[in-house]
Amino acid sequence: MDSEKVIKRDNEYVLHTYARNPIVLEKGHGLYAEGPEGQKYLDFTSGIGVNSLGYCDMTWAEAVSGQAHKLQHTSNLYYTAPCGKLAKKLCKRTGQSRVFFGNSGAEANEGAIKAARKYSFDKYGADRYNVITLVNSFHGRTIATLTATGQGVFHNYFGPFNEGFQYVKAGDIDALTEMVDRHTCAVMLELVQGEGGVVALDPEYVQAVRALCDEKDLVLIVDEVQTGVGRTGTFLCCEHYNLQPDVVTLAKGLGGGLPIGAVLMNEKVAAGMGPGSHGSTFGGNPVVCAGANVVVDRMDASFLANVNERAVQLRTGLEKLPRVRSLSGIGLMVGIEFLEGIKAADVLAACREKGLLVLTAKTRLRLLPPLTLTAHDVEMALEILGSVLAEMDPSKTEEQA
Ligand SMILES: *Cc1c(COP(=O)(O)O)cnc(C)c1O
Repeated sequence: MDSEKVIKRDNEYVLHTYARNPIVLEKGHGLYAEGPEGQKYLDFTSGIGVNSLGYCDMTWAEAVSGQAHKLQHTSNLYYTAPCGKLAKKLCKRTGQSRVFFGNSGAEANEGAIKAARKYSFDKYGADRYNVITLVNSFHGRTIATLTATGQGVFHNYFGPFNEGFQYVKAGDIDALTEMVDRHTCAVMLELVQGEGGVVALDPEYVQAVRALCDEKDLVLIVDEVQTGVGRTGTFLCCEHYNLQPDVVTLAKGLGGGLPIGAVLMNEKVAAGMGPGSHGSTFGGNPVVCAGANVVVDRMDASFLANVNERAVQLRTGLEKLPRVRSLSGIGLMVGIEFLEGIKAADVLAACREKGLLVLTAKTRLRLLPPLTLTAHDVEMALEILGSVLAEMDPSKTEEQA
């Protein structure tokens, strides 16, 4: 079926909740995706940070299809090996004690909020439930995680929203300290705000938040749905901050392309989550976990060394491109701010025309390439982006707008 037909059918029958790029992707290999008419795209989005090993990694695809041929699902009424294997690896890699598996980032954050409130309830009673999140954060699209998301634009239309969330400006430890009262149960944050524009938190601030949470016995939840699983050059972004949270959530890159969410927690928080306290029909699905096991196994020291080397190469190259004002983020989570008059959405469209797929986050261009990228892939992306930016005339962009 050609692209035009695929797009037309989709537009007719699929809910219009997404502003899609007008292209169809049919197959992929490594860093490249292909359309039905043979168009080739160098993909620096990895499906929004999901395809950590690129398209159709052979070991990953074999593990997934092998498990599908063996046993595809059992429910959580029974034990299967891939789930426990993955849980053990995640605990060993992160220093956490237990894992709950769900199917998405939002679902992982829901689980984290529930676990934090349960800990607080058991120890302090029903009156301590508030979760403080940061202004400009993003935590998901369910009602509770939309409420947790510290951006006013997300708090429309779908009310009433949940009680028990408060928002504080990132980086301001005094404002946070002042907000904490006898109703506060947890603080939840992203170390690099992804959807908020690829904005990294200040390390001193993060340490001060940890100290405040220790002092007041608040549960510190770190949302690593986008930053986790090698994206920033370490397995967790927490390692850059020398931070040990009480709860960590993972999703996007963990499954290598299949839906998974994970809530990792320490013994103290895990203790309250007994039988019946939480659940998910698909959570810990063996096919998905078989894929995730390949992803986590691949992330040894040399794999992460490549992530760091490519990140340096990419960032060094980007700094030299015309019309680039500044770079943000950590590792292969890259935000690009342009000079006045250059719109990230225009750059995205022009890159797509030249066969490079990129993302935006707020006013910035955002790059989340597969972690398996080579030096040559980085060179190719820099070449395309460089030629797009060289042709961008700020005055012309303004006229068109
Ligand atoms: C993408 C994202 C989510 C939501 O994940 P879904 O899988 O879309 O539910 C939550 N938190 C952060 C930081 C994210 O980047």
